[in-house]
Amino acid sequence: MTTFSFEFFPPKSARGERTLWDAIRRIEPLAPDFVSVTYGAGGSSRERTVDVTKRLVTETTLRPVAHLTAVGHSVAELRRIIGQYADAGVRDVLVLRGDPPGDPAGPWIPHPEGFTHAHELVRLVKESGQFTVGVAAFPERHPRSPDWDSDIRHFVAKCRAGADYAITQMFFHVEDYLRLRDRVAAAGCDTPIIPEIMPATDVRQIARFAQLSGAAFPEELAHRLEAARDRPGEGHRIGVEYATAMAHRLLAEGAPGLHYITLNRSTATLEIHRAVLDSLTPAPATPAPNSPLPDPRRAPHALAAHR
Ligand code: FAD
Repeated sequence: MTTFSFEFFPPKSARGERTLWDAIRRIEPLAPDFVSVTYGAGGSSRERTVDVTKRLVTETTLRPVAHLTAVGHSVAELRRIIGQYADAGVRDVLVLRGDPPGDPAGPWIPHPEGFTHAHELVRLVKESGQFTVGVAAFPERHPRSPDWDSDIRHFVAKCRAGADYAITQMFFHVEDYLRLRDRVAAAGCDTPIIPEIMPATDVRQIARFAQLSGAAFPEELAHRLEAARDRPGEGHRIGVEYATAMAHRLLAEGAPGLHYITLNRSTATLEIHRAVLDSLTPAPATPAPNSPLPDPRRAPHALAAHR
């Protein structure tokens, strides 16, 4: 079974909130397998993650996956947040260690009563109840990993700690995903790794992507986006075309699903997703009542069955 999912972040303003909910309402009829909400670096953005996730449970038909990081939290605080999710009916958590607030590349200093690495939080969430747990994977290896061997070893340790599936960091070369998947398989781990799809539609986004992910950006795509710098429609077309081609190839190579980063806007990701659905089935892009899309209540539990 192939899963399709969409990622949002907690909005910072009333306007951002409207944009987010507009995107959610446009994506909802497509019955994705799940949607995820990122966890902020600190303070009120974290409360907004919990709020948005709870609203997704009570006000939509969507299945929310709540991101949770270890940054700045004691184990007792993490237990409380997991409890809040459970009370709200959230049963799916994407577990991350997180990065130092302010400067993601700065020194990582764990909370004195908290966790140092993601696998510890995976264990805590799994011990806390009937949760499915996802973890992060890095097609170009984690920026702090000194070499591939240690990167894969620690990734596999997260899976062995109880992760049911993984979602990758954004990337722009399909080969990077395939190499990661092969390395993980060679280490004896069959946890499904869902590739993240991030449409790059504006040349001004590239520096930010590099800062967030360290992902190598294809030169040719950068040139094409540069040439379209003052023509947003053309930039959009180029970015959607590139991401759609990646999505097709990833599925043809056997990727277990696609996780779209929306940046709280739905247009580009929906265009990619519709093109992907069109290629999977001759049925119309908008699903009919007996849609070929999987039951949204089955994943990521369905992914867990792969382990
Ligand atoms: P870990 O698995 O702990 O790995 C971090 C580094 O430590 C790696 O180099 C790893 O090899 C190494 N390591 C792991 N275990 C050990 C060990 N036992 N001994 C020595 N070294 C070890 N960040 C947010 O703040 N909020 C979000 O919502 C968020 N969502 C994300 C979603 C996805 C899909 C991805 C890919 C990333 C997301 N991030 C988010 C970013 C993430 O928090 C950072 O990339 C972080 O630096 C790594 O988190 P991790 O869970 O992979 O950490």
